[in-house]
Amino acid sequence: MNDYVNQWHKLILNCSFDNTYKMVWGKALVELSLNVSDDYENDIVVFKFKDIAELCLKYYWNQIIYFNLIQSANIKKPPEIVGITKQLINVYFEKRDSVQPVRFEKIDFDSIGLTNNYFTSVKKIIKTLKQDVCWRFMNLNGNTYEIYQLNRVEGKVYFTKQNAILLKIHNDYLFTLINYRWTQMLEGFNYSPRISRKVRAIDEDKIRRSSLKKFHKYIDLLFKDGIRKCFYCGETIIEKDLSVDHVIPWSYMFSDDLWNLVYCHKGENSEKSNRMPLENDILRLEERNKVLLQEIDNNTKDFDLLQIAIEKDYLKQFWISFKG
Ligand SMILES: [Zn+2]
Repeated sequence: MNDYVNQWHKLILNCSFDNTYKMVWGKALVELSLNVSDDYENDIVVFKFKDIAELCLKYYWNQIIYFNLIQSANIKKPPEIVGITKQLINVYFEKRDSVQPVRFEKIDFDSIGLTNNYFTSVKKIIKTLKQDVCWRFMNLNGNTYEIYQLNRVEGKVYFTKQNAILLKIHNDYLFTLINYRWTQMLEGFNYSPRISRKVRAIDEDKIRRSSLKKFHKYIDLLFKDGIRKCFYCGETIIEKDLSVDHVIPWSYMFSDDLWNLVYCHKGENSEKSNRMPLENDILRLEERNKVLLQEIDNNTKDFDLLQIAIEKDYLKQFWISFKG
């Protein structure tokens, strides 16, 4: 491997585990290198902290708004940049009057009147990058790897053109390595399942929520008279209000499993994304799953999956880990 890329490799693979700042910082630099081309007129390439900060915000925004992934060992005191990101997400939710997650890249902060909030957030992030992140990234076990030069006062990072091009050429490799290391860290801070799948899905813009209609035929088995009842309030649901709900939130599970799906009224569903299921609901769902297992054709894969879930007590276990 090229010596310069090898230094990056070492820094990423061996960096410490307090929080994920180094991951967003490194990833932002590699992403910015994609804009550098061979016919760039100067021998020195400059990246501005402002551009880096915006990318850091993007990475954290997408991970947090979809999956609420925790970014440090100390849950009570999230890292500064994560706190700033969460604050901006909350302002955004309030403004939109909805907690529906939206990718950072799709949001026009100007058009929804959040220009100031956005720039204040970026400014604060720049400050933290200057103080805590930019120089630490180059340090490993007491050695400094001079992979770039810094001007912290002006908020600039300098690369030789040659090195910037090397980052660009090896971007696939470096992105993969950063995501791998990031995932390792997240697995230390989070108990939620499928973390590497979540990180990849966000990166590849493939967070699709598939239709839950295919589960109707099973849940319907519980309502032999054809009158569907809401799992939460117990009232009848008419067709146009019918919704299938993940009792343990989808954002946590990142998976659609029959053992976790119930009917509920449409409004009740969308309002309570990420809310904590009550113990009583978990107990009722456990009972429901046992009843449902009796009703399902035992020659199907879905029967097997439900049976395994009941035997292994997935519901309780994921609920306990979700509660944290
Ligand atoms: Zn209801």
